[in-house]
Formats: sequence, C-alpha cells, structure tokens
Amino acid sequence: MEKNRIPIKEGLWTTPASGEEPQLIGSKCKACGELFFPRKEKGWCIHCQQETLEDVRLSRRGKIVSFSVVMQQPGGDFYKGPVPYAYGCVDLPDGIRIESLFTTDDFNELKVGRDVELRIEKLYEDDEGNEVLTFKFTPI
Ligand SMILES: [Zn+2]
Repeated sequence: MEKNRIPIKEGLWTTPASGEEPQLIGSKCKACGELFFPRKEKGWCIHCQQETLEDVRLSRRGKIVSFSVVMQQPGGDFYKGPVPYAYGCVDLPDGIRIESLFTTDDFNELKVGRDVELRIEKLYEDDEGNEVLTFKFTPI
C-alpha cells in the first residue's frame, strides 16, 4: 500500500505537478525588498511596517554558511527524524539566509561554502504511518 506523504507544514514549498522541481516559498516586500522564509502568513513587513508582502519562489541552490552534526537524539519532541543528522544555515542567491537540515550519506561532504541543492525528503513516519516530509539541502 502506498504511504501518504504529507508536508511537515503547509506552504513551505511548491508542489509542482510534474517535470518541475519544488521550490521553497518565501515572502518578499514590494516596498523595501526584504525577503522572509518561511513566508509570512500575514502580509506585514516587519522592516517597513507596510502591508506589501507577496509570495516568491526561492532559488533551489545555495551555499552552506554554517552547519552542525548532531550525534544524539535531542531532548524534547521537536525533532523526530533520524540521528545523527546535520543542520545549519544556507545562503541563497536571492539574498536570504535560511535554516535547514542537510541530507548526505557522508557528513564529511558538508563544508562551509559548499554548493547545496534543495531536496524534499521524508523526515519521519507519524503514528498513522504517513510519511512526513520536510525540506533539506544536499551537497552537489
Ligand atoms: Zn518592507
């Protein structure tokens, strides 16, 4: 039986029909140019206090700015994916820095300045057997 694949949160990335790759969705201020990710539910720009935000699709490729490899399951319930895992910051050419998980078979491939590309991947399976998806970046 095919498993349901559900995003960890609605509205983080596009789900194109076919032939196109998903992209992260951000908000861009039409007045001051500021970018936000995740997109703002309400259309207010915190920089210029105007209601001038519109949804934009962000670049699929960026560069690693920083990363950490986590070897043990963190306390609390905020992370339900596999361990060890890596996360950090990625700079996109659009002019925004975003926090993300990284996906790689070899953590040695993670280096500051390395080019990475967006992937939408399973994070964990929920109690109903659904595959819960999230966005990650992988070295290219
Ligand atoms: Zn603004």
